[in-house]
Formats: sequence, C-alpha cells, structure tokens
Amino acid sequence: MLKVLNENSSEPWYAEGLRFKCTECGQCCTGSPGYVWVTETEIENIATHLNLSIDEFVRLYIRPVKDRYSLLEHPKSFDCVFLKDKKCQIYMARPKQCRTFPWWPQLLKSKKDWEEASEHCEGITFHAPIVPFETIENQLAIQEGKITCPLA
Ligand code: SF4
Ligand code: SF4
Repeated sequence: MLKVLNENSSEPWYAEGLRFKCTECGQCCTGSPGYVWVTETEIENIATHLNLSIDEFVRLYIRPVKDRYSLLEHPKSFDCVFLKDKKCQIYMARPKQCRTFPWWPQLLKSKKDWEEASEHCEGITFHAPIVPFETIENQLAIQEGKITCPLA
C-alpha cells in the first residue's frame, strides 16, 4: 500500500511512488472543452513531423488564446483534432502537456487531487505498477519547464 505522509513531513505525499499505467484509452484527449498548449518550438516540431509548412500547420490546427497557442478540438465532441480512433496521430511529436500527463502539478498537489484525476484516467488504478518517485519528479520538472524533455 502506498504510504500517505503526514502534513508535517517535508517529503511529497507520493514519496513512495504512484500507481499508473496508460491503457491508451484516449480519454485524456477528449472530454470537456479545454486546451492542448503548444509552444512555438512544438509547433515547428509537429509541422515538420506532418511535413507541413509552419503557416499551413497553424492555419489548419492551431488557435491562438491570448498570448498562447492551443491545438484545435472538434467543436462537438471536444476531441483533440489529432485524436483518431482513440490514437494520437502525432504521438512521436506530441507536445509536453501530453507527454507528461498525468504528472501535472495540479494533479499531484494532494492525494485527493490524484484520486479525482483517477475518475478521468483509467490508468490511475491500484492494478497498475508503481511509478517510482524519481520518475514522477522528473516528469514534473519537465512539465514545469525546469528541465527539457529529451524527446521534445
Ligand atoms: S486517460 Fe489515462 S489511461 Fe487513458 S490514454 Fe489518457 S493517460 Fe492513458
Ligand atoms: S496531441 Fe495527441 S496526445 Fe495530445 S491531446 Fe491531442 S491526440 Fe491526445
């Protein structure tokens, strides 16, 4: 059983790792309306991956939101525009936001937040193997921009 550390501990509550294994259900690429944020570098990488010019890629797949960019989603299903038959069509070039899920600060803030995340991600389950603390911290650092994703 995963140990939940007390509030006075300096260690994160998930210090002994967390159970997760992606089932590739595609649920995190759909659902409620939302944003799949992409940086300019990621836009370049995905455009290259799709053999498109950056202009064409932006015209077809990007929406500006204030001073940021998001991938488009289908207006009715809210599927990410790159989700087809539950598979990511740009998997090798998917943005950091997707690569690091579910190791996001807001989901790891507390055990309660993590449990709530499990309601939307079937890979977060007691059946799954334990992902070690070091791996979680590494993914968090990538998500927070403290280190660069080696695959980006
Ligand atoms: S919702 Fe969870 S299990 Fe399903 S594809 Fe996303 S990360 Fe994997
Ligand atoms: S880019 Fe791929 S992994 Fe990311 S939300 Fe879209 S379909 Fe899912």
